[in-house]
Amino acid sequence: MFSQHRNSHIIVDSLHQDQTEIMVEEFAFDNTEERRKTRQNGTGWVEVIAGSMFSGKSEELIRRLNRARIARQKVQVFKPRIDKRYSHEEIASHSGQTHGSTPVSNTAEMMEQVLDDTQVVGIDEGQFFDMPIIQAVNDLAAQGKRVIVAGLDQDYTGRPFEPMPQLLSVAEFITKTHAICVKCGSTANYSQRTVESEARVEVGAADKYEARCRKCFIPHADSPTLHE
Ligand code: ADP
Ligand code: ZN
Repeated sequence: MFSQHRNSHIIVDSLHQDQTEIMVEEFAFDNTEERRKTRQNGTGWVEVIAGSMFSGKSEELIRRLNRARIARQKVQVFKPRIDKRYSHEEIASHSGQTHGSTPVSNTAEMMEQVLDDTQVVGIDEGQFFDMPIIQAVNDLAAQGKRVIVAGLDQDYTGRPFEPMPQLLSVAEFITKTHAICVKCGSTANYSQRTVESEARVEVGAADKYEARCRKCFIPHADSPTLHE
């Protein structure tokens, strides 16, 4: 055990210091051999964080973006203008974490603003983007950028929420996040709407949605769960 530990130090010490730092930060999330190879052949890649509301997608996105900035990588973050939750200029998690971002009306507006030397592109609320986002993330990855998209994978009726299914298809790395069912405490995979509306897009947070499991979810509006 002790000698293994010492060996790994010798290997790390023999690498160029800057390169070691980048590798440690960049691969900390998922330290796979595949990811090292992806980096070595000069292309970028696409990561998707998908799940229900309150499952920690924004928290996970913010965590990865912060780590990239600690590694002194150039980071740009975008979100659709439709999401007016908490702030116009920031992405925000339900637990209060924030990260600066640029609101955009569509994919074309985002692509106009991505700078050549940007290494990491973060995108929140991916489900509100138009279909050209799929080609866009592929293009950015082909240019050598790391693209991280967070978004809702299902709408309030449990139907796949485009363009998230297509983004999941083209991503190299996928993380599914889960919330806790507010009715029974098990793993929640659904966003239960708790106000009467049949619009697919009804922007809100705990005032309009709650997390539910497969057993407790119903695919239309239901009254909110009350806790004593
Ligand atoms: P998402 O982006 O997936 O909507 P956020 O990252 O904004 O999720 O928020 C996750 C946070 O929401 C959790 O860390 C927790 O503090 C809070 N939260 C509120 N309700 C729930 C729930 N039912 N299950 C899990 N987390 C919840
Ligand atoms: Zn439940």
